[in-house]
Amino acid sequence: MKFAAFFYQHGLKLLHPESLPIDQDPASLSFASIGKMPSFDHPPLDLDYTFSHSLQQALHDKLLLLSELPFPIQLLHEHYLHGYVGFMKSVVLQEGTYICNRCGNHEQRLFAQILCARCGEECTYCRKCVTMGRASECTPLVYWRGSEWHAPISSDQLLVWNGVLTPEQSQASEQVIEAVLGRKRLLVWAVCGSGKTEILYRGIEEALKQQMRVCIATPRTDVVLELEPRLKRVFPNVPILSLYSGSPRTELDSPFVISTTHQLLRYRHAFDVVIIDEVDAFPYSYDNMLAFAVNRAKKRHASTVFLTATPNKQLKKEAASGELPVVKIPVRYHRHPMPVPRFIWCGNWEKLLKKRKVPIVVLEWLQKRTSENKQCLLFVPTVDIAVQLEEILSVRFKVASVYSEDPERKKKVEQFRRGELNMLITTTILERGVTVPNIDVAVFGAEHSVFTESALVQIAGRVGRSAEFPDGDVCFFHFGKTKAMLDSVRHIVEMNQYAR
Ligand SMILES: [Zn+2]
Ligand SMILES: [Zn+2]
Repeated sequence: MKFAAFFYQHGLKLLHPESLPIDQDPASLSFASIGKMPSFDHPPLDLDYTFSHSLQQALHDKLLLLSELPFPIQLLHEHYLHGYVGFMKSVVLQEGTYICNRCGNHEQRLFAQILCARCGEECTYCRKCVTMGRASECTPLVYWRGSEWHAPISSDQLLVWNGVLTPEQSQASEQVIEAVLGRKRLLVWAVCGSGKTEILYRGIEEALKQQMRVCIATPRTDVVLELEPRLKRVFPNVPILSLYSGSPRTELDSPFVISTTHQLLRYRHAFDVVIIDEVDAFPYSYDNMLAFAVNRAKKRHASTVFLTATPNKQLKKEAASGELPVVKIPVRYHRHPMPVPRFIWCGNWEKLLKKRKVPIVVLEWLQKRTSENKQCLLFVPTVDIAVQLEEILSVRFKVASVYSEDPERKKKVEQFRRGELNMLITTTILERGVTVPNIDVAVFGAEHSVFTESALVQIAGRVGRSAEFPDGDVCFFHFGKTKAMLDSVRHIVEMNQYAR
């Protein structure tokens, strides 16, 4: 029998018997009635009951839709009656406003109605988190109410790393340990290329030794994919779980999780330590969900470490007022300052592009790099502009363009790394991920609104990352300076001054 149909028949039995209308004929009850229940009663925990350990392992610290649990409904129901499983409505109507309990969405335009196959009625669901399975009025979220479970680590040797921290890194590392063990908050404000991942190692090790659960959360799948192999290398005896859209599904849980924001929505009161990497990587609207997901995934007394090169206004404000302790790492590990961007006015480049032309100053800049055999990254505001520029420039240069949906993105980046291309034209997707030694960077149309202060600082941070080639040119080609451009330069100059 299909799950939905099965639950349709048996759904109402999931309620505590006493909360059922006694005189109602069970046959007349429908699945929809669950959605209409004001709340779920939860029976007290029955300590004499022999609970299922596999259910405990799958459900502890989580908040899952029924459809995400590979267990028979009878098993869940029994555990519910003995106090081991809890239910919560996923979409509720409060004073005329829909709220999604899974992702925290309360924007009404992000809810929609369908004629629901599960409850057979007009049913409201949340569009914001629908990629994680449909949370709707008739779908409860399930959680574990029994005792905690710890994923075991079979070795005493957790951290295997022989690297040496710079004095700045080691100071930050100490503060991370202190925040972790003291269950406090901390902002690690580290300039691009300062080696901020290494700063976390000892704090994570200490937490795992104390049987704490650790999560590194980030809005970006790219960051998860970049961190996973690095952390597996230095924590070879710790089962690390990486969660992102399309990650291999496993029922196993781990004391150490690297997760995208979305996947974190499946957790509840799970982590003692949450490290938020690249918190500013997405526009503000995404931060709301990140904040919601992180807050619920944390245990009540947990430490939160914010790790970023470009903290947003909110974090800066809290840090300035002393509310949020902050440790700054203003120097790159090779101790050279960040290159300060130059502004070059390039006229109405959009108009020129329409005539299939590129501003002469830009061409000269590219030509100079090519004749000196130096590679460069050219950041552009949109995919269209990337494609147009590639067409025009490919007459003179070995060039490729990449953007996030580009199926050949990986291949082209590899070609660039191998030195087979003079230049790579890219949208802001590469502002963080790529590290190539000895490159120059230009922003084409730097006045465009996609180039925020934070994006421009990250872009400038692509240059001079290796000790061998610590310098390079960063050039913003523009048709009118913006506040973001000026702010990004001020940001870099200030960090460099602070470093001195
Ligand atoms: Zn939602
Ligand atoms: Zn429904």
